[in-house]
Amino acid sequence: MIKNFINGQWVATESMQSVDIPNPATGEILEKCPLGTEAEVAKAVAAAKEAFKTWRQVPPVDRTQYFFKLKALMEESFEELAVLVTKEHGKTLVEARGSVRRGIQMVETACGIPTLMMGEHFEDIAAGIDCKAVNRPMGVFAVIAPFNFPAMVPFWFWPFGVATGNTIVIKPSERVPLTQVKVFELIEKAGFPKGVINMVHGGKDVVNALCTHPDVKGVSFVGSTPVAKHVYVTGTAHGKRVQALGGAKNVMVVLPDAVMDKAAATAFESIVGCAGERCLAGSVVLAVGKETSKTIAEMIIVRAKETTIGNGLDKNVQMGPLISQAAKDRVKGLIQSAIDEGATLLVDGREGVDQMPGYFLKPTVLSGIKKHMRIAKEEVFGPVVLLAECNTFDEAIEWVNDSPFGNTTTLFTTSGAAARKYSYEVDPSMIGINIGVPAPMAFFSFGGTKDSFFGDVKAHGKSCITFYTDTKVTVERWVSDANVWAKS
Ligand code: NAD
Repeated sequence: MIKNFINGQWVATESMQSVDIPNPATGEILEKCPLGTEAEVAKAVAAAKEAFKTWRQVPPVDRTQYFFKLKALMEESFEELAVLVTKEHGKTLVEARGSVRRGIQMVETACGIPTLMMGEHFEDIAAGIDCKAVNRPMGVFAVIAPFNFPAMVPFWFWPFGVATGNTIVIKPSERVPLTQVKVFELIEKAGFPKGVINMVHGGKDVVNALCTHPDVKGVSFVGSTPVAKHVYVTGTAHGKRVQALGGAKNVMVVLPDAVMDKAAATAFESIVGCAGERCLAGSVVLAVGKETSKTIAEMIIVRAKETTIGNGLDKNVQMGPLISQAAKDRVKGLIQSAIDEGATLLVDGREGVDQMPGYFLKPTVLSGIKKHMRIAKEEVFGPVVLLAECNTFDEAIEWVNDSPFGNTTTLFTTSGAAARKYSYEVDPSMIGINIGVPAPMAFFSFGGTKDSFFGDVKAHGKSCITFYTDTKVTVERWVSDANVWAKS
């Protein structure tokens, strides 16, 4: 059974409940994850609260030294981390390496906190009066992660929270906690003072305890839309700042002037990369015009049939399994629902996979997708290409904006004017122009809109300073006393 990390110590859980962590490519049970308790959350929050008293006083240039050490340790353990991601999540080693790299980039960016966190100062806002604004840490923050990027998503938050002088309690996904256990070994080696970064394993009880604990100042959450909404509502009702990133339904529009082979390759990779388990994964490929639709379909069908699936540790494998049997069954159910509602099955990814160990599906391609179909509305989170067609660019934009989600969208075109119109008119907050997975890097903000994001302040980038600090303004007037100076 894996352990919690509280107040600088590895501690065995007090919980009687746990879940198995299978390797999704083989079904082999790798470990057990405890489902932690409210009491364990209370201990972690108490340790973080105590550590905050001194950590907030450590000068930012000294705080960042721990991050420089952590960055070096993560580079040394880079391959080990990537292999762990593949083993517990299933994505290919190439994809896993990419996600570890993104995690390291967050640590690198947090090293810039002395500059990023600086406040403002203005002389003579009125005669003889000056004003200064400082960004101050607030206390204990919670970070709650989803299963799909075990090495990356927690890093979207905690390095910035800790570098700004706060202390943290992290709850990894109970489905993929092993990478974070390794990360915490590195955090321990980097020498962060005890209590500054804590980890409690578990599921919804731990989440609810964090969202209601009176000493937690804010919550950074990533997961599905219903849970994101629940975390936002619960956390804010308990007086906390909350940033809750939710699910997605990402449409990729192809205009007739697009470079077709590149558009098909990029759209296909966006949809099946990480077996479709990405919040930025494309889902619907919406072609404008019959000819565009026909060309894109032909090119995508070839790619879908050629994709090699298997254990992500095998270097010839292009796509790994889904996270669980339940996830596989859900995606299969969605495929069937589309067929039942009149979609045409062009490539059936359900064929020949049930005799494999693990939770595999091959890429599936469905055409004739209409906006009202269940599969066009729900997040699939699996390797399913949904081909749809419309007559005009404006109709395509309407399709994108009709969705309750607003995470990301992509336009394939060679027209700058079309690209500008698209970025200007569509709702989602992360836009790709000829880019299939437009993931903002550490120094830009990350997050969607509508049902893909609940809160005001997004993840990483400059926003993180706003989220993790309180701005304190002092207005000063110092009366000059010439006589005092004359005496001294
Ligand atoms: P999930 O919502 O099932 O779980 C996320 C976290 O919430 C986990 O730590 C889990 O333990 C906890 N949780 C689950 N059910 C809960 C409940 N009823 N009450 C309280 N806590 C609960 O999500 P997931 O399946 O792990 O991750 C996939 C989802 O995350 C997808 O919808 C995906 O789009 C989304 N996601 C979004 C982004 C983004 O940037 N918007 C990034 C990654 C993943």
